[in-house]
Amino acid sequence: MDYYKLADLLFPNITKNPLEYEEIYPQRMLPVGAKVTRLGPSPTGFIHLGNLYGAFVDERLAHQSGGVFYLRIEDTDEKRQVEGAVEAIISSLEFFGVTFDEGVTKDGEKGNYAPYHQSQRSEIYQTYIKQMVRRGQAYPCFCTEEELNEIRETQECLKENPGYYGKWAKHRNLSLEEIQTRLDNKEAFVIRLRSQGTHDCEDEDIKMISVEDGIRGTLMMPENDQDVVLLKANGIPTYHFAHVVDDHLMRTSHVVRGAEWLPSLPIHVELFNTLEWPLPVYCHTAQLMKMENGNRRKLSKRKDPELSLDYYRSEGYHPKAVREYLMTILNSNYEEWRMENPNAPLDSFEFTVEKMSSSGTLFDLDKLNDISKDVLVKIPAAEIRQFLIDWSKAHRPELTGILEGDEEYLIKILDLGRNGNKLRKDFVFARQIFEFISYFYNDYFKIEDSYPENVSDDDAKSILYAYLESYDHQDDQTQWFDKIRQIASDKGYAAKPKDYKKNPELYKGHVGDVSTVIRIALMGRATSPDIWEIQQILGEEKSKERIIKALPFFNE
Ligand code: GLU
Repeated sequence: MDYYKLADLLFPNITKNPLEYEEIYPQRMLPVGAKVTRLGPSPTGFIHLGNLYGAFVDERLAHQSGGVFYLRIEDTDEKRQVEGAVEAIISSLEFFGVTFDEGVTKDGEKGNYAPYHQSQRSEIYQTYIKQMVRRGQAYPCFCTEEELNEIRETQECLKENPGYYGKWAKHRNLSLEEIQTRLDNKEAFVIRLRSQGTHDCEDEDIKMISVEDGIRGTLMMPENDQDVVLLKANGIPTYHFAHVVDDHLMRTSHVVRGAEWLPSLPIHVELFNTLEWPLPVYCHTAQLMKMENGNRRKLSKRKDPELSLDYYRSEGYHPKAVREYLMTILNSNYEEWRMENPNAPLDSFEFTVEKMSSSGTLFDLDKLNDISKDVLVKIPAAEIRQFLIDWSKAHRPELTGILEGDEEYLIKILDLGRNGNKLRKDFVFARQIFEFISYFYNDYFKIEDSYPENVSDDDAKSILYAYLESYDHQDDQTQWFDKIRQIASDKGYAAKPKDYKKNPELYKGHVGDVSTVIRIALMGRATSPDIWEIQQILGEEKSKERIIKALPFFNE
């Protein structure tokens, strides 16, 4: 077979030589040990936690080593593309603090290894494919869907391995004339790899290859024997081929990707070998799992809203909290380091792929929430205010007005219980923070809890009356509490809880019940931070107004 002739027949318009691309995209001039990593998302409109998880690994590996981290858009599957998805990927990752040095950006492409959209690299892929055809390493296959189904069915009947390989690869050895005739008939064709893997042998004779995975160590896998499709009938490459060519020409040193790609690793190894290119270090990250009814399962797009990155943005998780949490699941020694270095910037932690888990990584929303509390308590109120405003603009625009309104008021609210020795860790994410503080705003104030059961309506009324009568906004915290105790004993409630505990039969309840009545009137809730402090923020007028409104007497 004259492969040169075949290559020209199949790709008459491809005139470049692969060597030209080697020159256009030379080795990068980087310090020894610098890593080049990339994120290769497909613009499907769904950005998931796994993308961010992988992006962190890429970002840390590159930036810790003085290397380069770039964004390549893998848009070879037209059917799955969604308008605006690329912008959404960039802005979402940026929000969580992931920045690229090179590749696709909001303002177009940046860098010497462009184009960074796979859809714009057809000529490059076809140049390499043409070379493979010339060398007899790839060939055209005209099999129709029906023919492929037929092969599969026969294989099933005979209990043979499925796929297009060896004796099953019908078009592996078509003659030039036959190919010519089919081309003249305008038959559609794909280009397949002519795999060098050994076919048609007993299981125990299958050759094994060993690959060093950055995270998993030495992997022993059966070599590839499938004549996989490299170029689809529309001239667009498959993932297998596109990423191999791109990662070679863009000089990627570490390919970080999800474990779902592990089974196809032998294909990629064969492709790198066939093209005589050095293999990058593949790092297959673990699947994200969650616990459900005591069992681990994979996070699912359908069942778990928390798999989508949008979830964290619309709930208003602070990017610092998400980063901090992801780091704890990325590196097993991170939490220990954090305990020793509570205030150090995250980037000063030395991240290593060796400390990553290779079995499933447990994703735990409760733990994220706990970490978020720790992170938010350290962020100054003014910064949290701005964060809430930014969040509201995108997700709850009806709140922006009041959040932006009285700056000093909101800062005081956010600082409540956060400046003593024992810090309150009330804040988790923006939506929850607003719910937590909403009673400070009349439009959102409502009575949510009921008065204690042991306090009669008449008692509640008279407690509130007495409270209103004795109210002096100038009272300090001790004076204020003495008055509450006084009201308690006047109304038959123990002034001290321990007195009540000793002789419950002597009282209707204790001072705690009295303050709960006041708390519900003022905040609408049975639990809240310190009442006196809240009153100081609400101000005299609003505080009294709420007591008056709560007085059943006035509502009658
Ligand atoms: N486009 C592939 C994906 O979205 C990228 C895999 C890779 O990083 O190589 O899964």
